[in-house]
Amino acid sequence: MFTCRNQSCGAQWEQSDVIIKNEGQGLLFRCPLCGARNYVERFEGDDGAVLYEQMDGRPSPGPIAE
Ligand SMILES: [Zn+2]
Repeated sequence: MFTCRNQSCGAQWEQSDVIIKNEGQGLLFRCPLCGARNYVERFEGDDGAVLYEQMDGRPSPGPIAE
């Protein structure tokens, strides 16, 4: 379960509700409701299953054009 980091939105999404992609600053999904970028980290389980975990902020410092 992911929670949109836009505090005025705060919508919750299942992984299947969102599209995770790399826009050059790391993996992220855009909130389907407000469009905010939410960064995730990719993990692989022992069985090869891919899991995504939401990050608190951004993977690297620096300005990102909104
Ligand atoms: Zn949102």
